[in-house]
Amino acid sequence: MERALVIIKPDGMEKGIVGKVIACFEGVGLRVSGIKMARATKAVVGRHYIADRTWLMSVGKNAKAADAKRGIVTKETEMQIGMRIRSYLMNELTRRPVVAIVFEGENANSVARKMAGATEPRSADKNTVRGMYSTDTYQLADKEKRAIRNIVHVSDSPKSANREIKVWFRSSEIFSE
Ligand code: ADP
Ligand code: MG
Repeated sequence: MERALVIIKPDGMEKGIVGKVIACFEGVGLRVSGIKMARATKAVVGRHYIADRTWLMSVGKNAKAADAKRGIVTKETEMQIGMRIRSYLMNELTRRPVVAIVFEGENANSVARKMAGATEPRSADKNTVRGMYSTDTYQLADKEKRAIRNIVHVSDSPKSANREIKVWFRSSEIFSE
């Protein structure tokens, strides 16, 4: 049985949709096996969004693609953009307490990511958590020099889930079937 980590980010907390978000993931067959509310420090967010070269480059690449669609050409490298967004995430995730949840199920990571939807809420499918509960865009986040507010973080593979879960939970706080 696979585990996935979901974090209800500060914007999801602000909107008062903790129950609704959990219901979405439970609705696609995932079961809660660990849950807590936590106020993250920048150090914890830094360990969660680890400065992994591949991830930083992919964030930079996506940002450049979004810029290009708007006809904007940036001088920043993909790596520099990745680092800048990682620092935005440290501010964003420490704005207010979050809820961290370990979900279990068959293919938990791909199932949870499908339910979460695309990174940019404005272009996320309407039947996804991000599409239903946020309308944020790359453009607005850029203008306000902050991370995109897309309600949830979802781990992207069993491997990253296992690493990320250790950032937020002790093994004694997870209850498997
Ligand atoms: P996902 O959360 O969909 O896996 P990423 O791992 O690429 O997306 O990025 C992590 C988080 O960083 C996103 O959920 C979003 O909050 C933020 N983010 C990503 N790209 C940008 C960007 N170009 N501008 C602002 N924030 C961004
Ligand atoms: Mg990601």
